[in-house]
Amino acid sequence: MKFMARRTLLYEGKAKIIYEGPDANTVIQYFKDDATAFNAEKKAVIAGKGVLNNRISAHLMTKIEAIGIPTHFIRSINMREQLVRKVDIIPLEVVVRNVAAGSLCKRLGLKEGEIIGRPLIEYYYKKDELGDPLVGEEHIMTFGWADPYELEEMALMAWRVNDYLSGLFEGIGLRLIDFKLEFGRIYGEYGEVYIVLADEISPDNCRLWDARTGEKLDKDRFRFDLGDLVDGYQIIAHKLGLIPEGFIKGGNLNEDLAEKLDQIENELAEKRKLKNIAKPPIGGGSKPRKL
Ligand code: 5GP
Repeated sequence: MKFMARRTLLYEGKAKIIYEGPDANTVIQYFKDDATAFNAEKKAVIAGKGVLNNRISAHLMTKIEAIGIPTHFIRSINMREQLVRKVDIIPLEVVVRNVAAGSLCKRLGLKEGEIIGRPLIEYYYKKDELGDPLVGEEHIMTFGWADPYELEEMALMAWRVNDYLSGLFEGIGLRLIDFKLEFGRIYGEYGEVYIVLADEISPDNCRLWDARTGEKLDKDRFRFDLGDLVDGYQIIAHKLGLIPEGFIKGGNLNEDLAEKLDQIENELAEKRKLKNIAKPPIGGGSKPRKL
């Protein structure tokens, strides 16, 4: 296939592969069809998932960048790959919750669907062997996973992303229940540190419910066998205006159409980019700020 050019693998995760990019400051993020849940205890390969996540994430990252939040996203390369800035991932999962669901219900005995007083930000330490435990700010400071400035910046960005995405999804009849973000560091020429939004924003790491019916359209379909995962992700992508209805049927997708849609998305992304928001300078080979 056209997009499977020879690449140097840097890292393989559960849902993505990171390859070396065309220069030292970039990497290529490849979206796999693999689905995992419960710390990889449940696994499956779901045809079409990678393509949908790539498209949804590219779209949302572009929109988020356009409101002034720096992200690692540069551009989509093809159906399954995107060019992103190389970052030093901060070992934290930043979860924002608007409505009680998932592990919050389990931990605090809340009823699923309960609205919580205000958006709640939680931090989890990224460590598969430990099952990504919940941690507090004190743990983050004590173990130096992020400094106070970085933590404040991540929290502010997470709040803004939540406001923005909640409104965006509300406008297309979806409720953003919760989501997980990851951030990375980019080092400037003079050793300064920039925090950017990294990883992906897709139904793999967001809970999205149909506002009218309450139908769950995200990865909980796979976690709890609630229905076809690709069908749910396609409804989200279609509502976002990214794909026509029935784009993937029985695991088959129209590759020519997919490629054409990629081109359109890239052109739109270029137009949407705010020219007056300077990207942090990259490279320079300087040492990171001491934490
Ligand atoms: P919970 O803590 O309720 O399981 O997850 C809260 C939100 O963060 C959900 O939207 C879930 O998809 C996302 N999330 C939490 N941990 C992970 C993770 O390790 N991987 C992914 N993909 N999403 C996660």
